[in-house]
Amino acid sequence: ACSSERTTDGGGGDDAAADEGGGEGGGEAGGLIGIAMPTRSLERWNNDGANLEENLQEMGYETSLQYADNEVDQQITQIQNMLNQDPEVLVVAPIDGTALGPVLQSAADQGVEIIAYDRLINDTEAVDYYATFDNYQVGQLQGDFIVDELGLEDGEGPYNFEPFAGSPDDNNARFFFAGAWDVLLPYVEEGQLVVPSGKAPESVDGWTNIGIQGWSSETAQSEMQNRLNSFYAGEEQVDVVLSPNDSLALGIAQAFDAAGGYSPGENWPLITGQDADLANVNNMLAGMQAMTVWKDTRALGDQVATMVDQIVTGEEVDVNDTETYDNGVKVVPAYLLEPEVVTPETVEEKLVESGFYDADELNL
Ligand code: BGC
Repeated sequence: ACSSERTTDGGGGDDAAADEGGGEGGGEAGGLIGIAMPTRSLERWNNDGANLEENLQEMGYETSLQYADNEVDQQITQIQNMLNQDPEVLVVAPIDGTALGPVLQSAADQGVEIIAYDRLINDTEAVDYYATFDNYQVGQLQGDFIVDELGLEDGEGPYNFEPFAGSPDDNNARFFFAGAWDVLLPYVEEGQLVVPSGKAPESVDGWTNIGIQGWSSETAQSEMQNRLNSFYAGEEQVDVVLSPNDSLALGIAQAFDAAGGYSPGENWPLITGQDADLANVNNMLAGMQAMTVWKDTRALGDQVATMVDQIVTGEEVDVNDTETYDNGVKVVPAYLLEPEVVTPETVEEKLVESGFYDADELNL
């Protein structure tokens, strides 16, 4: 119901557009850029959209920015509508990485170039570039954090451990899990990490069995509650939870809060996350989440705006990875940015001093 549709004129106008267009390919900056985002319900996508739109408008482009309520059909319709307006480039963060083939093929047939934003678009030729944070590294950072905090390298344990994975239709979720699991699985096999629920895949490929559809906080909360009820009825307590992102971490923290018997600063489990969403940063400051992997969406917006401009003006497009992201049909040339860990101790330095949040938004 709350989908949005707006087309906005770049503040720069034609003169600014002409100035930007010094590319050797002879093209000129300017024209319409379609931006398809998955949902407004997660804070990060709101920031992503706003940033990218602002960047492109400053460069003299018009933008059509749309959010699809996490509904695949709605996203397809929105992209179709964008195509009717003859865009130069489409920037798409897909809801379901495999569902956009046909609509993007008609975009490609129309001569529109396509950048996959943050999430890869699978099973189609019709994706020209991919810009994202290093998704495997996100998982590695979560895994390494658990290893360091618990002293697993020194042989500490056993710890009760509950792993979660992201939405099975999101290509990123597999990379997040693989990065973490490559670090953690050896400790599960050693018995230093014990999984009372049994929900520990024997290999990375089993990740979809513990994936939370749509990255839903509510589903993560009820899954955690079920595990607590079924496997922790006695004295057993959970020590550590691998949560791939902040929306899941929020629901998982709520489950512990509701269960009772867990107190921040005392026996609250170590919970990981990703995105530095505001609610989660405040949870970190309250001792209810141990870390988040921060992906500065401003940097991604800058990078994608640059790539759009390079495409339109016919310059060579910046990529730094040409082997990782095989979408089933082709390896999509990618630009990967570096994610970084934020803990309660570094919130101020990383998130406030960089201007990502204002100090008064946080319970510092
Ligand atoms: C993004 C994450 C985000 C998740 C849920 C993933 O594709 O990379 O940053 O937390 O989707 O929206």
